[in-house]
Amino acid sequence: FRKASWERVVLAPFLSRLHGTEASAQKEDSRFKGHDMLAPFTAGWQTTDVSPLIIERSEGSYVYDINGRKYLDSLAGLWCTSLGGNEPRLVEAATKQLNVLPFYHSFWNRTTRPSLELAKELLEMFTARKMGKVFFTNSGSEANDTQVKLVWYYNNALGRPDKKKFIARSKAYHGSTLISASLTGLPAMHQKFDIPAPFVLHTDCPHYWRYHLPGETEEEFSTRLAKNLEDLILKEGPETIAAFIAEPVMGAGGVIPPPATYFEKIQPVLKKYDILFIADEVICAFGRLGTMFGCDKYNIKPDLVSLAKALSSGYMAIGAVLVSPEISDVIHSQSNKLGSFAHGFTYSGHPVSCAVAIETLKIYKERNIVEQVNSISSRFQDGLKAYSDSPIVGEIRGTGLILSTEFADNKSPNDPFPPEWGVGAYFGAECQENGMLVRVAGDTIMMSPPFIISPREVDELISIYGEALKATEERVN
Ligand code: PLP
Repeated sequence: FRKASWERVVLAPFLSRLHGTEASAQKEDSRFKGHDMLAPFTAGWQTTDVSPLIIERSEGSYVYDINGRKYLDSLAGLWCTSLGGNEPRLVEAATKQLNVLPFYHSFWNRTTRPSLELAKELLEMFTARKMGKVFFTNSGSEANDTQVKLVWYYNNALGRPDKKKFIARSKAYHGSTLISASLTGLPAMHQKFDIPAPFVLHTDCPHYWRYHLPGETEEEFSTRLAKNLEDLILKEGPETIAAFIAEPVMGAGGVIPPPATYFEKIQPVLKKYDILFIADEVICAFGRLGTMFGCDKYNIKPDLVSLAKALSSGYMAIGAVLVSPEISDVIHSQSNKLGSFAHGFTYSGHPVSCAVAIETLKIYKERNIVEQVNSISSRFQDGLKAYSDSPIVGEIRGTGLILSTEFADNKSPNDPFPPEWGVGAYFGAECQENGMLVRVAGDTIMMSPPFIISPREVDELISIYGEALKATEERVN
């Protein structure tokens, strides 16, 4: 393997699928090789050289491709199908709403019953601190773009025109629109897109394993990061910094839970300089971490919160921003002066999306989803972390129903495998061969199964992971 060519390593598993026994049966997906979509987060060669994986239907924790192959969906779509792939009550909620009122908007104080009810429900559910109002979007990216506009509007109303900069963190993922991608701290999302925007600053990624100094404890690491944050604020001028945005557990950047005392130390620094805290709960909310919200787990008292994904179990496109009473009061009076709060989307508070979200939240409550996640998460975490001794594993990290594995040579963050070996891609392809889909980002692979995953399915997930790891170890060594 160490001598193998990049193509052989990265493409071999795909090629064996394409040219193996299944290929002779005239696979349906080969019709779509070189397809017409400019596909998100996909390289050009993938759409031209490899048939896409076309998912046709879903059931519980599984999805099926158009050739009838079954996969355990270890990422729950894109961290979102929390109630699995065929929850009939959500289908019924959507159908019912489609029959009554498929669309009406929420502009100019006209609105619909589902959007009003969902807003009320969200404010009741979020208890980390009292929130005042809810603004609906269609996605997590739109929620985070909205956050920036809300904060600017707020500071303009308060007569603080210079307090406009945002601090995000390296390796954060906040979305793909112009502003949310600027907040994102992943270089690939900035390259050749002329971002980040100049008002966005990035501070340290709180990844203890990768960035701690020799002999430094987690608590000391957190202290150092809080100090670095304060230094950055002082260097820029506190009067120019409007807000700090953070995911309680970083998701797409590699599933990075905060080190001990991190949020405890970051929050007083922000308070000291009157900087707002935006909690990006797009992945963490509704039970994923074993608490209803990530803010509950880490004792975060945010001013603003972004939600999406599990809000509708991914069944409909919907996001939301929770706004503190202090901020919503200021926005209220400012809009009185200006004539309106001139921000919104055609589909803000879409009645069908809201109806599905209301039903999703009802199911979370009825089934006590937090307890359900807690009852299964140790089987998931412990079962996978048992592989930490593998010679090609650098770190396995996670909490609740979210976990990642970072491959590294000599178990060291300083010894990555050469990218051209495609170690993560090889592992991911092995999983796929064995009937499981994982997320691959370089040599980090990530999982966040549906909340409804059963003990038997967790065991299957661990077993496929183990087989793929063994095969990858054999190829590497
Ligand atoms: N914020 C976080 C933490 C996310 O993980 C994501 C998507 O993965 C987003 C924002 C963007 O959400 P969307 O893809 O719905 O725009």
